[in-house]
Amino acid sequence: MNDRAQDAAIADLIAAIVRPEVRALTAYAVAHAEGMIKLDAMENPYALPPDVAGRLADALAQVPINRYPDGAGESAKRALRDALGIPDAYGMLLGNGSDELIQIIASTLARPGATMLVPDPSFVMYRLSALNAGLRFVGVSLKPDFSLDLPAMLDAIERERPSLVFIAYPNNPTGNIFSAANVEALLRATPGLVVVDEAYYAFADASFLPRVGEFPNLLVLRTLSKVGMAGIRLGYAVAAPEWIAEFNKLRGPYNVNAWTQAAVGALLADTAWIAEQAAAIRGERERLKTALTRLAGAQVYPTQTNFLVVRVADAVRVFEGLKAKRILVKNLDGWHPLLAGCLRITVGTPEENNRLLAALAQADLK
Ligand code: PMP
Repeated sequence: MNDRAQDAAIADLIAAIVRPEVRALTAYAVAHAEGMIKLDAMENPYALPPDVAGRLADALAQVPINRYPDGAGESAKRALRDALGIPDAYGMLLGNGSDELIQIIASTLARPGATMLVPDPSFVMYRLSALNAGLRFVGVSLKPDFSLDLPAMLDAIERERPSLVFIAYPNNPTGNIFSAANVEALLRATPGLVVVDEAYYAFADASFLPRVGEFPNLLVLRTLSKVGMAGIRLGYAVAAPEWIAEFNKLRGPYNVNAWTQAAVGALLADTAWIAEQAAAIRGERERLKTALTRLAGAQVYPTQTNFLVVRVADAVRVFEGLKAKRILVKNLDGWHPLLAGCLRITVGTPEENNRLLAALAQADLK
């Protein structure tokens, strides 16, 4: 076959056998960031302290990579339980990032006709995992101030009887945390499972993790990604052991690799560095917030995360202006009507934040 015939044959095959809803998607674009100040992906900007890096190197050198990893990840779970005070009575499931756990949960609950219900806008992977699993996705718009529209959520729960509700707590991409009383109301009203996704717990003042035993339908999802360990890809779910047993059936037997498992033990052997870095990020967040609020034309929203949402008159122009100065943020304009004009700015180091503030002071935000 010549090249042209080969290409035509591939295109025909794809049109014939790839799911149409997948063909209609565009793949999640990870921005090119080489040489840029990277304030787009909610990463922790600080490196590992040297003593932690040393401990990590020793642990990784001893990993027998000729063998498959521990399928259950027992030692990594132990390290997480000890570091975070997760009671032994709660079940735990590890994933290759919390992204993988979102997918496993969606797939497990994807009975024919089942529905996933999510406030909108929220984390984009919920919708994608619904599509992947074949769940019906129902979004319920937040209020213009990004708070939860509780009556609309309760109406939708009554109408849709969802098998699965995702609540990002605090919410991405809006940064705010919903009231605990509202989340409680959703837990009580939902006939299915409610996943409270606490990816940003380290920067928030509230958590449902200690309350897993209180609600039969509560699963708390967390990740190490926002607390300095995005590169190792480790997420964890905490719920009643009976739930975890079901999700375990769809988990790949070796979904968390041996290096990541060994790294968890070494990284969490002491957690003071994590708390110190999170405190530094919270401090910088407040400084950045105050400074941004003073800029004419910038509307800054409340946050309990490691990022700030800022509304300007022309988000595309400001985004491109920052990019020209080698500063990468996330342009949320066009994601959802409530996000018109919004940029999402991850808190960086003090130097990075100063560079950002200097660039914005020169930009026209009005
Ligand atoms: N949940 C929320 C709310 C997030 O914002 C993110 C990351 N952007 C994730 C989950 C996924 O995190 P990871 O896969 O890195 O654990």
